[in-house]
Amino acid sequence: METKIKSIDSYKGIGKKKAQLFKKIDIHNNLDLIYYFPREYRDLRKVHSIGDILKKPNFHSPVLIKARIIKKYKPQRPSKKSNIRISVSDKEGAIDIIFFNRPYLDMSLKKYGEYYFYGKLHDFGSYIVMSQPQIIEVESFKPEILPEYLLPKGISSKEVRKLNKNILQEDIEEILPSCLIEENSLYSLKKALGAIHFPIDRKSFLEAKRRLIYQELFFLELAFFMERNKNKFESKPILQNCNEFIEALTFQLTDSQKKSLCEILEDMKKNIPMNRLLQGDVGSGKTVVAASACFATVKGGLQASILAPTEILARQHLNTLKPIFSNFGYNVELLVGSMKAKEKSKLLERLRLGEIHLLIGTHAIIEKNVEFKNLALVVTDEQHRFGVNQRVAMKEKGLHPHTLVMTATPIPRTLGVIFYGDLDMSIIDTMPEGRKKIVSRIVKKDERISLYKKIISKIKKGDQGYIVAPLISDTENLDKVISVESLYVELKKLYEKKDIKIEILHGAMKSEEKDEIMKAFLDKEIDILISTVVIEVGINVPNATFMIVENAERFGLAQLHQLRGRIGRGSKESHCYFISDSKSENSVQRLKIMEESTDGFYIAEKDLELRGPGEIFGVRQHGSLDEKLRLAIKHMDILKKVKDDIKKYEEEIDKYDFYLAERYMNKYQGLNL
Ligand code: ADP
Ligand code: MG
Repeated sequence: METKIKSIDSYKGIGKKKAQLFKKIDIHNNLDLIYYFPREYRDLRKVHSIGDILKKPNFHSPVLIKARIIKKYKPQRPSKKSNIRISVSDKEGAIDIIFFNRPYLDMSLKKYGEYYFYGKLHDFGSYIVMSQPQIIEVESFKPEILPEYLLPKGISSKEVRKLNKNILQEDIEEILPSCLIEENSLYSLKKALGAIHFPIDRKSFLEAKRRLIYQELFFLELAFFMERNKNKFESKPILQNCNEFIEALTFQLTDSQKKSLCEILEDMKKNIPMNRLLQGDVGSGKTVVAASACFATVKGGLQASILAPTEILARQHLNTLKPIFSNFGYNVELLVGSMKAKEKSKLLERLRLGEIHLLIGTHAIIEKNVEFKNLALVVTDEQHRFGVNQRVAMKEKGLHPHTLVMTATPIPRTLGVIFYGDLDMSIIDTMPEGRKKIVSRIVKKDERISLYKKIISKIKKGDQGYIVAPLISDTENLDKVISVESLYVELKKLYEKKDIKIEILHGAMKSEEKDEIMKAFLDKEIDILISTVVIEVGINVPNATFMIVENAERFGLAQLHQLRGRIGRGSKESHCYFISDSKSENSVQRLKIMEESTDGFYIAEKDLELRGPGEIFGVRQHGSLDEKLRLAIKHMDILKKVKDDIKKYEEEIDKYDFYLAERYMNKYQGLNL
């Protein structure tokens, strides 16, 4: 029973408009939605008596009461009409309830009416109130656990619940090998997805979670399994050097670049596939090392390929590499998902014939119909954004190329084994000369405006910069979090009269649009780019000298480090500002670390120390190493079991349908479990 992918607007009640809203959180179809897990649950199973909750108040999680309205207070000031206060009572006590910003509520609440109220208690010193509870009519009340989702304005959790109920009626294909399900008595995928959305009790919820975590860690380890097995195969030795390429560069390679390149060339001379990870901090110059390896490959009459996680990055690589390669008579082309069919089939034909020497692209490259004549080297850029399993698909093409994985997320050595257990490692640990330092500073929210004014003078001097916000648009549930769209409106007012050009960039935009904006930014037609973390990986604009991160507390350390790596790439001093009012000790510490260090390895170690379980990540990020790291650290026991199981069931797993994994795991890795 294959899972049928249905677009979200094919469900009753979901029109074009709603579908557009779903897009904002990267939900396009039924599978996207069912993998969008609840942020929290409303537990309506136990009704508490007011007497009890006042005696032993719990201020941490919401409580449910059933009570009658005994009084509605007049608003203290007419201007505060939308804030409402009522008293309610049951047999054992009375409590006041406060609602904010609910202008129409007063009319809908019946005088002396009885309702269920589900909300948090607050200590007001001399008395306790319940604030902003959800109200449930007695007739429609059911003692159940209800999932709540983090959603954009315009979609309710209620709608999502209904959709998910529908989706759970459909076929959902099992994606784990049956031997593993039996071995661990795991829920089937369908049952687990059902129970993660609609748990009937704590036990079923935990079982669902266990199954989904197992699945996720299995796919992580599966990639290594494939790598291991790959070594049984032969690959094409690459015996050429790349001296003329290096001589054609406008700069000298650093010593650690040279060392890494030597290690790579040595590996590629062998007739077993290279499996190497190239680690280096942002801006350390990994691309040129990888490109040199590609050059040696094409010089030997073989094909090479670079896989980038986004179109922007793929195009960036194309723009830097194509001119140099064509000087030597080698053809470099781009393959991305948004290409027209005709253009694409022409390109595929040339690829098959070996007329294209270096193919740069996104995941479009791993599609089944892409055939190379003699692919011998695959470079994967910024692996953690890409999904480990895509490497697997290359093997399915019947190829055993050398593989080089580049990552700018330094991995603490303790964890390297988990994530790259089977890879050899090259490390670039020095920066190219002439880089100026990045000065970082934490900025309080009340200094924001003066900061935004201050950067005007930088722009007048010809500098450019980034402003990063956590969200694309305002979200109901995240009141105080700044979004790209609202920031744009705010800054437009401030900057328009100063003739400063700002633009926005985020993941929900079409790739052509994104590319256009990036190009305009590179050509200095745009002064400031307001963006989400889309700019996190790899983008190279040396003239960008400042970055401002709004709600900086909402980003992980590794992410902040990546973000900051976008500046300080030229010869001018750069400045990074982290705006945050957060009082949480953990976030304060995180930002302090960012203030004091720019060393990626140091930051990674600290990140690991600070990252407590249960940290709320808020907005989902697909497939990021951050998420996988967190999951694996938190569930070392499951990870270990997965590793053991893979060994034990090696034969069965070898027969596994890897495309099955591919379909799911590209997208549904790094879930918020
Ligand atoms: P990353 O490791 O983050 O991928 P890049 O490969 O994008 O870094 O390199 C960042 C910039 O540094 C590029 O503009 C590149 O041309 C330049 N660069 C790379 N190596 C050197 C070097 N040895 N000397 C000077 N500049 C270099
Ligand atoms: Mg890079």
